[in-house]
Amino acid sequence: MSLPTLETLVSYLTIVAAVMGALLAALWLSLVIWAFRDMRARSRDPFAQILAALLVAALPVVGIVIYFILRPPETLAEAYERALEEEALLQEIEERPHCPGCSRVIDDKWLLCPYCHTRLKKACPDCNSLLELQWNLCPYCGNHAVDPYKANVVDTAVAPPEPLPEPEESETESTVNPVGETEL
Ligand SMILES: [Zn+2]
Ligand SMILES: [Zn+2]
Repeated sequence: MSLPTLETLVSYLTIVAAVMGALLAALWLSLVIWAFRDMRARSRDPFAQILAALLVAALPVVGIVIYFILRPPETLAEAYERALEEEALLQEIEERPHCPGCSRVIDDKWLLCPYCHTRLKKACPDCNSLLELQWNLCPYCGNHAVDPYKANVVDTAVAPPEPLPEPEESETESTVNPVGETEL
């Protein structure tokens, strides 16, 4: 068994160093690409994207730390999502009922606007449910004697009773011919 000569030892070390160097170079390159892509997800400015890649390329370890400190806190997708949420929230506020008189936000259970005294709803004279002013019947109890736009209590006894619809049985009976006599 012979000891390796100095020359072979040096060549082995050279190979190891070359492999290590290649790995480090690959790591450095991937970090530069990552910084560029990460900045591209956070900023539309091409100058900022190139600057982030150059920073990580020029300062291999320190650069990535500086980039982590300085990069925009949220990505473009996150910013877009947040903008959508804010818009939805704003729309929800806008969709809340407003007083037609003073356009203040009102509760949909109010009969009158407490600010400008505009009538908002009327109560059903029968079941006391809250009705829209333009309705002429109560959808809760079926009272047909509710005056549209009239907020006062309607006397249901005065209203004429609804005519009952004709029973459909007589109509169907007349159309059906008794089978037998005419056919033969
Ligand atoms: Zn009002
Ligand atoms: Zn009613």
